[in-house]
Amino acid sequence: MTIGFTEDTRSSRHHRRQTRPPTRFDLSLSENPFPPLPSVLRAVNQALVQANRYPEFLPRELPEIIARRVGVHGDQVVVGSGATGVAMQIMQAVGDGAEIVAGMPTFDGYPIIAEMIGMTLVPVPLDAAGNQDLAATRRAIDKRTAVVVVCRPHNPTGAVVPADELKSFLNAVPNRVTVILDEAYAEFLGPEDRVDTLALLRKHSNLLVLRTFSKAYGLAGLRIGYAYGRRELIERVHRLQLPFGVSATAVAAVSASYAAQPELAARIRHITEERESLRNALLACGHAVPRSHANFLYLPGPGVATALRRAQIAAKAYPDGSARIAVGDREAGRAVLAAVAGLR
Ligand code: PMP
Repeated sequence: MTIGFTEDTRSSRHHRRQTRPPTRFDLSLSENPFPPLPSVLRAVNQALVQANRYPEFLPRELPEIIARRVGVHGDQVVVGSGATGVAMQIMQAVGDGAEIVAGMPTFDGYPIIAEMIGMTLVPVPLDAAGNQDLAATRRAIDKRTAVVVVCRPHNPTGAVVPADELKSFLNAVPNRVTVILDEAYAEFLGPEDRVDTLALLRKHSNLLVLRTFSKAYGLAGLRIGYAYGRRELIERVHRLQLPFGVSATAVAAVSASYAAQPELAARIRHITEERESLRNALLACGHAVPRSHANFLYLPGPGVATALRRAQIAAKAYPDGSARIAVGDREAGRAVLAAVAGLR
């Protein structure tokens, strides 16, 4: 399957509406369709009882909890306001007004943050399957490059760069360049597609793995993200930690979520099953939807974004008429299918 991908490097920060327009289904932000689990809500409520108190000055408890789960030391984890907040902290810590190289299109946060902090984004077009082209990405790195991003799975296509390609890429990137391995959707990967990030970290001191509780854990509204890596690099990022910047509800929500792993795994299974059945239906209608390993699908244009908008379905739209939609809600999936079925 060969798909053309729009290469939109404009920051959408200035164009974004402050409030979302009325819609039947809002699939624009790759959110989890499920509300928080009752056990997570209870834990958050409990934490709110003490909301008159500040949280920790610099977060210690949350990094420790996450570190135990990931299998690293507490001082190898930095937490922040979603993966977006942590990405910004990383880029500020190591970016120094230089260049950031990323596959394009990518998660909006990267061009937005680059613009905010005075970094230049160097876009590298995706390959025909919607994967980040790591050979071209490697060629785009030069002496001005401070950061390179690899999203695995990639946003907006859901494609996954093969593990061996990632390993050769990491071997080829100069050590002075920080690599953000963005695993915002890692929990949706099948076991065969996972990479051993701890083994990668043993080899690469310039690597940071970025994750979030917004997607598989369904806690986008609480803004909890984290990165882990080697102590020295995390220490540099940690220097920019915002005092009192992570709320006590984050600690409660993460602990309760880790305790509810089986329920969360069932939700992930549900979302991926819905994704596969919707993709198959779209393929049957002639839409060349690339295989996704995340909680969204990329519907190549032209005309798709407009058809969804007319059907009052909010999607992330691209300049060539393509759209990215969140999956998992069967009713919303049916509405998407009805909206775009006649287009091809
Ligand atoms: N990375 C990628 C690839 C994403 O798609 C997103 C959210 N869309 C993020 C990071 C940031 O997620 P959050 O700030 O909600 O943790």
